[in-house]
Amino acid sequence: MSERSAERLALLGIPLDANSSHLPGCAGGPDSIRAALNSESGNDSTERGVAVVGRLDDVGDVGLENLPGSDVDADAVTNAISLLLDDDRRPISIGGDHSITYPILRAVGSRHPGLTVVQIDAHPDLYDDLDGNRLSHASPFARALEDGCMARLVQFGIRTANRHQRDQAERWGVTMVAPRELDSFDLSMLEGPIYLTVDLDGLDPSVAPGVSHHEPGGLTMREMLDVIDRVPGPIVGADVTEYNPTRDLVDMTAMVAAKLVKEIAGAMLTDA
Ligand code: MN
Ligand code: MN
Repeated sequence: MSERSAERLALLGIPLDANSSHLPGCAGGPDSIRAALNSESGNDSTERGVAVVGRLDDVGDVGLENLPGSDVDADAVTNAISLLLDDDRRPISIGGDHSITYPILRAVGSRHPGLTVVQIDAHPDLYDDLDGNRLSHASPFARALEDGCMARLVQFGIRTANRHQRDQAERWGVTMVAPRELDSFDLSMLEGPIYLTVDLDGLDPSVAPGVSHHEPGGLTMREMLDVIDRVPGPIVGADVTEYNPTRDLVDMTAMVAAKLVKEIAGAMLTDA
């Protein structure tokens, strides 16, 4: 494996939680994940030995008004990602609630035709709207599919799909993989370019308690890392969302989020 130049990666904070339906707190995510990334408790190497932390160019946070359903905020996120892509960088965004992924995908999808989005989540996030908010964190993939931001959406860890969300998945041809089906899904069949979006509630709450929606029965950390390992490249962008520091226990979920950022960055630096 050859390593790409570090200058091609960028870490972007998106401190937004106004589109959360249940609890606030995710706006504090970026700062807490950065602290975990820079903690002296670990080192800067991925499991495959790629040194990444010092090579992740932290470009700071997007300036946001953090109001529910804000088009101004959505446009600010799209613009920030577009600027990074213009600069030939691959963005890793740290949230923020999952609503951030729709405006991110508006930028990424327009640059990468044939994009496959790989989503880790307890929830499909395909609601037409939630409580009248079409930019809700329960709706980002409905909006992104309507806008044609991707060729294919594949979801892992889903364990809350109701009738409406199943109808939406059928309408858009979404591949929904429940935790019990993970072993039988061949990730190598996916076709790049790949955008990887991680909602931390896709993990089991025993692994990642620092989320607003505890949904037992989720992925183990090793299963999550296996997805990153097995997904074919190139990974052209990624996000880690829904970290809520007000719900965390001894910062353990911040470290989970930081490790995912590291391993995703390592995969980006070594993919073909
Ligand atoms: Mn979720
Ligand atoms: Mn989500």
